[in-house]
Parts: sequence; structure tokens; C-alpha cells
Amino acid sequence: MIIVPLGVASATPTATRHLSSVALWREGDIHLFDCGENAQMRMLQAGLKRSKIENIFISHFDVDHFSGLLGLISTLQLQRRDKTLTVCGPVGIKEYVEWNLKFAGIDLNFDLEFVEVKEDIESQKVVDSDDYYVEARPLNHTKFCLGYRFQEKDKPGKVDAEKAEKLGITEDEQYKALKAGDDVTLEDGTVIKSYDIVGHPRPGDSFAYITDTKYCPNSVKLAMNTNILYHEATFSETLADKAAETGHSTSIDAARVANEAQTKLLVISHFSARYTNPFVLLREARAKFFPAWLATELRPIYTDPAQEKGIVKQKVYIKEIDDSKQSRGKDRRSDDGKKRFRKRKTGGSSSGRRDSGDRRSSSRPRRDDSQDRRKRRPDSSSRPRRDRDDNDYNKGTSRPPKHITPRTPFDDFDRF
Ligand SMILES: [Zn+2]
Repeated sequence: MIIVPLGVASATPTATRHLSSVALWREGDIHLFDCGENAQMRMLQAGLKRSKIENIFISHFDVDHFSGLLGLISTLQLQRRDKTLTVCGPVGIKEYVEWNLKFAGIDLNFDLEFVEVKEDIESQKVVDSDDYYVEARPLNHTKFCLGYRFQEKDKPGKVDAEKAEKLGITEDEQYKALKAGDDVTLEDGTVIKSYDIVGHPRPGDSFAYITDTKYCPNSVKLAMNTNILYHEATFSETLADKAAETGHSTSIDAARVANEAQTKLLVISHFSARYTNPFVLLREARAKFFPAWLATELRPIYTDPAQEKGIVKQKVYIKEIDDSKQSRGKDRRSDDGKKRFRKRKTGGSSSGRRDSGDRRSSSRPRRDDSQDRRKRRPDSSSRPRRDRDDNDYNKGTSRPPKHITPRTPFDDFDRF
């Protein structure tokens, strides 16, 4: 099972983040969780074929979570798809899609199968195939919102081929029968028991998609013992009030669900645009749960890296934008326009211009700080370069998170 985040923004896209969508690759098929307006483009860039989509699961009807659905369906039509596509979501998804197709005069070549979930359910199996099933449960958002769990069914145990051969098994059909749990009778009448040859069944992998919700027990139920819990972390704990008011989670809420559900890996996503550097959120989550990762668009997450690495190859080069380098030498203003000053390292040298007050206070202006740095530099020449780098926020130092507004040539809105 390979998880590829296609968009990790909340509410509105930013210059570097796209609207919510995650692809789950399994045995060549793709299952989409939410479908923001950029989802089909991001699939192309991720190296995922749109024709391989089997199911689309929509969490709720905030526009940023389903605005890519019609565009994607239209593309599939132009690609002459002929196999059925399942679209699952809250009641109303069928009417929405059908009305729009009718409005656009599109007569689909392929069948759409809708699975609609009512508000009063406790839990519903929305897809059940031979190899996996998907369960939906209501979450706690400002409007009806569904969380999903994708669960592989237990896989049959491995056949001990050497032992089987010794016992006289030669035909493929016999192996298949043994694997399916049936005993095989050889020509000489010997009965080969399935349990002698086949190992214990292996538990299937699982993935939970939980977005746009406050902490709620259903999140924990969906995420129980999953391999990967993909959970929203729109805000940091400092904005817990705002999270409660808007029906969202903080990174601490995400970590709480991960802890209570004993998931193997927490991946946080759905970042508010105010966090130009989402490592702030990761650091908070990691303090409460480990391992925790940031969802990075187009970067695959594997349940079995040894087997799965290299299967999904993205078509575009992924480069994480290093905010700290962009802001070097520029005005360090935060979103609210106030200057932010970094904390001085303790025990450093002093400019000597201040005779009173705590020199280690965090409110020292940056100019002084840089002077200090110039003074310190000659003494520190023997230290590794990494230690001298003044842009090492988020690398395990105790400095405060930095909030900057990215500046690009395209930011000059007045010109257009
Ligand atoms: Zn959202």
C-alpha cells in the first residue's frame, strides 16, 4: 500500500500547497480520498494513472474537498474509460454529480456507482471487495463529515514450497488449493494437509483518512491499529480556540488520536496557510507521538518500503522550499506585521552596550544579534559549519518558530 499526498493545504491553496486529496495505491489500483480542484494534475505529476482509479471517497461538502471531482470525471470520459467508478460521500453526492453532468451535456461512457452515507449512521461499510473493505464513520466538524478506514483483508499465509515439493506436490493447481486452505490428495492416496504447508495468515495493511474534525471517538475507532493514520492538523496548539471554533484539529489532537488508536505511523496534513513552515506543527505532534511525519505533496509513504519503493515515480522534481534561506537578509515580519526576534543563545558574548536588563532576553533587536555573531565568528572557526549556520530553526534547537511571508516576483499584485 502506497500513500501519495496530492494536496496538503486547508481551505485555500497557497503558492506551494494544493487542496486536499490523497491517493492510495494498492496492487495497481488507485483509491482517492477527497478530490480538491488540483487532484488530477497532481496525480499526473505523481506518476499515478487516472485510469487506474477504482474508488473516490469524499469526506464532506466543503468545496476545497470535492472541487476537482467533475474535472476528473470529465477527463476519464475523454480517456474513454469503460469500467465502473465508485464515488462515495455524504448523501447528496449523487445529485451533485448527476446535475452537473446533465448541465454540461455529458453522457458518460462508463457507469458511476454512488454510495451515499446518511448522517445518522454509526458506521457503514461503503466498499467491500475480495481483498479489502472501506469503512466510513461520521466525524465532528461544522458540517456532516466522514472519516474513512481502508482495510486490506488478511492475506493467506506463505506456502513452504520446499516442504511441499518434498511431500510430492508438483502441480500449480495443488499449490493453489493448499493456499486456499484445502487439503490435497496425491495419486497414491496420501493426503497433504494445508496447515502443514501454509503458514499463518498475515494481517492486511490499513490506512485511516481523518480530516476536518475536532477530536472525536470515531476518529480513534477508524484509526485503531492502522499502519498509517493520515490526520489533519490545521492549527498548532496555540490556536486551539480557533480549531475548536472552526471544527478542526491541532497537531496535539492528531497525536492524541494516534496514541489512543496505537497507529504505527501518524502523518499530519491539511495545514493552515498561516504556517509557511509546517515543521512547527510536526514538532508539536512529535512531542506527543512518534513516529510522526509531515505529509509532503507527491512524496510517497510506504507500508512496506522493501517491496514498494520505486513503484510510484513522480514526474516532477520535488524540492522542499527552504524558507530560512529565502528569508535570509530580508525583513523578518510575521503575518500580523509585528517583528519577530529570535532568542539569543545563552552564554554568548555581549556587545557591552547595555548595562542593565537581561541580556539573554528574547527581545533583543536583530541588529545587535548580528553584531554579536560577527564578534563570535573568529572563535568559532574550528566548530563544524552546521553549528555556525544561523538558519537552523527547526533543527532541534530551542529557538522559536519563525513566521515569514514568502516573497516571490509574482507577489507584486498591484501590477496586474
Ligand atoms: Zn478542509
